[in-house]
Amino acid sequence: MKTDIEIAQAADIWPIEKIADEIGLNTEEWEPYGRDKAKIKLSDQTKQHDLGKLILVTSINPTPAGEGKSTVTVGLADALASQNHKTMVALREPSLGPVMGLKGGATGGGYSQVVPMADINMHFTGDFHALTSAHNTLAALIDNSIYQGNPLNLDLRRMLWKRALDVNDRALRHVTIGLGGPTSGVPREDGFDITVASELMAILTLSKDLADMKARISRIVVGYNYDKEPVTVADLGFEGAITTLLKDAIKPNLVQTLAHTPALIHGGPFANIAQGTNSILATKSALQLADYVVTEAGFGADLGGEKFLDFKVPLLGKVPDTIVIVATVRALKMHGGEDKKNLTTPNIEALQKGLPNLGRHLNSMKRYGVPVVVAINQFTSDTTEELNLVKEYAASFDVSAYVADVWGQGGDGAQSLATGVVAATDESKDFQPLYQADDEAMTKINNIVHDIYGGRGVELSDKATKQLQTFKKYGWDKLPVIMAKTQYSLSDDAKKIGAPDNFDIHIREFIPKLGAGFLVALTGSVLTMPGLPKHPAALDIDIDNDGHIVGLN
Ligand code: ADP
Repeated sequence: MKTDIEIAQAADIWPIEKIADEIGLNTEEWEPYGRDKAKIKLSDQTKQHDLGKLILVTSINPTPAGEGKSTVTVGLADALASQNHKTMVALREPSLGPVMGLKGGATGGGYSQVVPMADINMHFTGDFHALTSAHNTLAALIDNSIYQGNPLNLDLRRMLWKRALDVNDRALRHVTIGLGGPTSGVPREDGFDITVASELMAILTLSKDLADMKARISRIVVGYNYDKEPVTVADLGFEGAITTLLKDAIKPNLVQTLAHTPALIHGGPFANIAQGTNSILATKSALQLADYVVTEAGFGADLGGEKFLDFKVPLLGKVPDTIVIVATVRALKMHGGEDKKNLTTPNIEALQKGLPNLGRHLNSMKRYGVPVVVAINQFTSDTTEELNLVKEYAASFDVSAYVADVWGQGGDGAQSLATGVVAATDESKDFQPLYQADDEAMTKINNIVHDIYGGRGVELSDKATKQLQTFKKYGWDKLPVIMAKTQYSLSDDAKKIGAPDNFDIHIREFIPKLGAGFLVALTGSVLTMPGLPKHPAALDIDIDNDGHIVGLN
């Protein structure tokens, strides 16, 4: 089997105008970015019909390599397209952190990929660079205001707006800035977040248009003054400049799969530290252009899935018609206690022991009242006995499971999954939200912990308790909550694999994101600037003089 990059570099990529043509965009509705990428314009003219069917792909708790959500999303979309359904893919843009770090890229794998793979995984149409520049411009403007006499009386010990970089750089988590004497600024403690955790990234993926984006940027709280009152971007007056820097990044990017299914790839918040799904604009545009839209929410159903259903759905105005839970035999064996080095060795016992992780996600997704289907992402090491066991287990929850070999065969490997998904989208649904918009933040958190994680309770640090009291004063206590939690466990402890019981979730701190419109709850030891592993993916990536790349996946 060829590597992902070998397959992608050998692909027959159609000129992007052919893809734009196929989905019925006229020339005014899109802008080419080179030969095989485009941005679509923000216009209601792209609306061709009422919203199509929405298929949300999520997964069990993953191994560090990922369980193939993007791969299944692409393969399923190609299978639907091959069955003559007008289909589009809506995915997130990859972050350079994981591309150079542990997990690798986010363009799918094997014969289920979006292309041009190397471009999408690295600089694409420059959206992440624009976001990083906008984020750091705002940071520089804030520090300049402090240097120029601090007219807003910003309390240097209570600043919220940090710097951002789309790099896994642990050395920048905590820094001191403004050293070097009076002409080099005012010294204070600062830090860096990865760009995908930036509030501007969240705003980009939530904004309806430039006006909405500007209004959201105005509401960002950058810190507190010495009277402990919040100071916003509107107070500083920079919302116009920051929005201008994002004028092109707000437009969704059009590319294609290896089988030429159109794909909109836009925005990239991680699901363990942010809201974890692609932009509302891209998802909505795809729903207006296609009959079936396959989209993905990051990490497991406890993170991206929950955030999609509780946070994105009300803003999108569309409930998924089917939820696809991706499960792999290898991850289930890991949840059954098998060592990560042995996951390709057949082991029915470990698989059996790990299945309750799938069970927990099946129950938590079924509670939303939307049809649920399992896609077993097949690896070459899986045995028929193992695959059958997963199918039988899903059937005991009254859920159909389909083996999909999308990695080895592209859309051909997901024909029965596609047929099953189409049938599921025709079933009746009765969407049951997990909480009401005006519930207190703690009610929302408790519901997430009990109903989605299967946990016992919530423990707040002293700091988090005090913050909630302050938030009540500012009227922020009923905002939606974005849980920042490890992706490896249903609990906030990465080591608690499988389906742990009787655990509490520990919230150490809240970060108010008023522009995005949510509170981030930092649980356990989750970090908003990841580090690199001992053997980063970057060690395996190389390029020759003809531009052929190896090691990118
Ligand atoms: P996720 O979206 O769940 O994070 P991805 O779809 O990005 O996962 O896949 C992660 C990696 O695993 C990719 O490098 C992909 O090529 C590889 N992969 C996915 N499915 C398979 C499979 N069935 N067999 C082998 N490798 C796979």
